[in-house]
Amino acid sequence: EERNGHEPEFMQAVKEVAETVIPYIKTQDIYNGKNILLRMVEPERVIMFRVPWVDDNGEIQVNRGYRIEMNSAIGPYKGGLRFHPSVNLSILKFLAFEQVFKNSLTTLPMGGGKGGADFDPKGKSDNEIMRFCHAFMAELFRHIGHNTDVPAGDIGVGAREIGFMFGQYKKLKNEFTGVLTGKGLSWGGSLIRPEATGYGTVYFAESMLKTQGKDFHGKKVVISGSGNVAQYAAEKALSLGARILTLSDSAGYIYDAEGIDEEKLAYIMELKNVKRGRIKEYLEKYPNAKYEEGKTPWGEPCDIALPCATQNELNDEDARKLIANGCICVAEGANMPSTAEAVEVFHEAKILFAPGKASNAGGVATSGLEMSQNALRVGWTREEVDEKLKKIMLDIHDSCIKYGKQEDGYVDYVKGANIAGFVKVADAMLAQGVV
Ligand code: NDP
Repeated sequence: EERNGHEPEFMQAVKEVAETVIPYIKTQDIYNGKNILLRMVEPERVIMFRVPWVDDNGEIQVNRGYRIEMNSAIGPYKGGLRFHPSVNLSILKFLAFEQVFKNSLTTLPMGGGKGGADFDPKGKSDNEIMRFCHAFMAELFRHIGHNTDVPAGDIGVGAREIGFMFGQYKKLKNEFTGVLTGKGLSWGGSLIRPEATGYGTVYFAESMLKTQGKDFHGKKVVISGSGNVAQYAAEKALSLGARILTLSDSAGYIYDAEGIDEEKLAYIMELKNVKRGRIKEYLEKYPNAKYEEGKTPWGEPCDIALPCATQNELNDEDARKLIANGCICVAEGANMPSTAEAVEVFHEAKILFAPGKASNAGGVATSGLEMSQNALRVGWTREEVDEKLKKIMLDIHDSCIKYGKQEDGYVDYVKGANIAGFVKVADAMLAQGVV
């Protein structure tokens, strides 16, 4: 607290883990007196650097770049890069800390890291994005490597940005290795990686529903965000027979009472990924829908809510509205989208609630599969990768039940995910000694 009190998001993430893991540690002699959690909250290394670049008007711009190398007990640091004006140390440390547990849950050998820059990609030309990515990698390249630290995408970093960064890394190092994941298919990428986080979130929610004999068929689903995670969560939920009512961006949300079907979703993907437009432009094509400026979609009646935009986008008031409207399941596609108070409301109401570190782990898991394919110099088929992804999500669900099932049968997925993620990393740290 004394050391990190000025980092609210990081404190929030640590507190949640501490509340569930400390009582567990107390029951396990091997972890007692080893200060494992105290070691885990301190990043192994934090890199901060200047990113100078030239905009289209010939002006020199300066951004701040970061890489948090949080924990490498079970594998090379692994985690995304975020380009968003809100990026700061607190946000990246919370993301890196969560990543350690998430990566451990996937069962793949990946440590945890996160990075990015306070750069705003909105309204920038392709050339400006390229120059920024090249400038960012001109420093980051000396700290990463396929056996050391393997970054991926996150908010504001998709296939285009990964391409520019990979090109610069390859030029500076003069070697072609799988140093980044989320690459294009023809140069080392994996099938299903773009879909993986959204698909995985829905696979996880499906497993939760199954414990109550339910499924997605005919269910009303409310989704926030309209980026990578939201788009593919919508696609998978649609294919399971759900009715998608909303999507959003940072300016507001759209509500389509008739449901966002495959054709409408294709329009949104073109709008967001190719034209890089705003979600409200949906109404230009589908005028029967409504647009709510400056609001989040949690007030709309639904059975299932999938928050897929950003941290702390769903508070306790939203949580109460969801429950009053009959919501039975919340699975986080984003990282920490629900505030601590919102999670408390879900738990008190005993509805199905999955924290992002469990339900959105499919993205990094598939990045892990991309690393394996790169190391083997092979490319698995769509079906092979999807099968492995599905199996990993089911295994994570099982782990959450193992450590999170309460005496009355209710599953606390937060507790389950935290303890299951902790155990593997803690055991590795114990074996490696005080390093
Ligand atoms: P994208 O950049 O593709 O999309 C982000 C979406 O969230 C956009 O619709 C964006 O709207 C909205 N958003 C971003 N910031 C805010 C904000 N401050 N307030 C409201 N809306 C906001 O990112 P991803 O889909 O990749 O990431 C979404 C979430 O999922 C993040 O929390 C990320 O950490 C998490 N995640 C992503 C993974 C991946 O594989 N990509 C893996 C695991 C987790 P706008 O366009 O207006 O900014």
